[in-house]
Amino acid sequence: MALSLKDLNLVDNVYSFGGAYIMALDSGTTSVRAVIVDEYGCIVAQSSRSLKCSYPRPGWVEQDPMEILASQIAIMMEVQFKSGIHSDSIAAVGISNQRETTVVWDRDSGQPIYNAIGWQCRRTAPLAQRLVDEGYTDLIRSKTGLTPDAYFSATKLAWILDNVSGARELAEAGRLMFGTIDTWLVFNLTGGTVFATDYTNASRTMLFNIHTLEWDDELLEILNIPRCMLPEVQSSSSEFGRISHEVMTHAPVIAGVAGDQQASLFGHCCFEPGQAKNTYGTGCFLLMNTGNAVVESSNGLVATIGIAEGGTVSYALEGSIFHAGSVIQWLRDKLGIISKASETSDIALSREDNGGCYLVPAFSGLGAPWWDPAAQGIICGLTGASDRASIVRAACESMAYQSFDVLRAMEADAGVRLGELSVDGGASRNEFIMQFQADLLGIPVVQSASVETTALGAAYLAGLAVGFWEDREEVKQNRDVAKRFEPTMADERRATNLAGWHAAVDRARSAR
Ligand code: ADP
Repeated sequence: MALSLKDLNLVDNVYSFGGAYIMALDSGTTSVRAVIVDEYGCIVAQSSRSLKCSYPRPGWVEQDPMEILASQIAIMMEVQFKSGIHSDSIAAVGISNQRETTVVWDRDSGQPIYNAIGWQCRRTAPLAQRLVDEGYTDLIRSKTGLTPDAYFSATKLAWILDNVSGARELAEAGRLMFGTIDTWLVFNLTGGTVFATDYTNASRTMLFNIHTLEWDDELLEILNIPRCMLPEVQSSSSEFGRISHEVMTHAPVIAGVAGDQQASLFGHCCFEPGQAKNTYGTGCFLLMNTGNAVVESSNGLVATIGIAEGGTVSYALEGSIFHAGSVIQWLRDKLGIISKASETSDIALSREDNGGCYLVPAFSGLGAPWWDPAAQGIICGLTGASDRASIVRAACESMAYQSFDVLRAMEADAGVRLGELSVDGGASRNEFIMQFQADLLGIPVVQSASVETTALGAAYLAGLAVGFWEDREEVKQNRDVAKRFEPTMADERRATNLAGWHAAVDRARSAR
């Protein structure tokens, strides 16, 4: 039998950690990814596959949980084949996932009883409104840090129990399991042996008490959800269970799980209170680390669990923007005025300014800091000189304006002034948007070298749990900046732009 590289001692670190690499899965909304990370935090291989969303009715968003699972497993295999790095070299696996998206499945058959209800889905807006009308806002806010909204998992889960035939009876008989996408993946990847989530994902359900760190019986009762459906909750950086041999021959352990935004905050090494990041993906997600304090927002932001690692739980303030990169998809798929997202930066830069044209993408209401579910999308300020470039530029600018509003609200709540903003996500590769963001905020915008900061965060969490990296200091050595965008815009122009934007937001809010 031929000697292998390991026998020849040429890959000497393979067994020193029980594996020389970490695999991280990033189960996003529009795509799933698998990456392999080395000890320097470098991504040495990656694979991805896009996912479908369905829109059965206006405002409804669904995905097929089996497609998510099958795609995830396929690319876990693909990335191993592509790289030649197989499961005997993988020390641990980390998972980051789209949050809030809700799956309910049968405990025995493992089959979902309904499609996954997506985080963007608004079908439960009436139920969320009922919680507000019945006076539960303060209670929910004080326990979960969240403002009652259809966005979080709780009302989606209640909807499935109330609308899928037989679901409630099965749930009460202990036959159904609820999970966000992390739980769905962990359950299936471990061959149905582990039913668990982490603190960050739990904190996005609107059923989890972020102070006591437990599922909250009072909220479960209000929403009529049986507790037996809910997974165990554990630290984001801890051993969840081994991946079954069928999926990865050497069955590495899943040792890191976090919601994508929290994983990204960790991946940016925003370990200190006051540090913040913005992810420009389908939506925009801005998180600021607030340390061990739950900061109550008076500006419509939510408090959430930032990460649970190394025996401590840290909190974060979060602002979510529902439509960011999705606006670019809308330009491509619905208006047909661009052919691919990557051309928007040059098109926007072909104009010196926005010519007074603003696009407020309130396609499903407005999120933080406005939380106005009735706001409607508008394009305003059009003149005879307006053209395709004006609209593309206004769409790009809308990501930066919305982020500006959230960030200023966050600073007011936390009582800090940000020094810089770390960025990632697909649309953070748009140089026009990043420069415009720095100009609006008046602080540097720092783009990490890796666009996969979310996956990196999951890798760091898994690696820290198994001793692949010793501590956060060691992880920080890996931080690599691609580009800093320094603010250059004159104050007067910034003020004019912002005034125009806020007037447009007022119109979107009164458009109904
Ligand atoms: P998610 O994780 O939410 O699936 P990604 O981080 O992969 O999203 O980013 C994809 C989104 O970013 C899409 O909505 C796409 O339209 C947008 N996007 C990608 N590249 C660019 C670009 N160069 N300029 C503007 N938007 C972009």
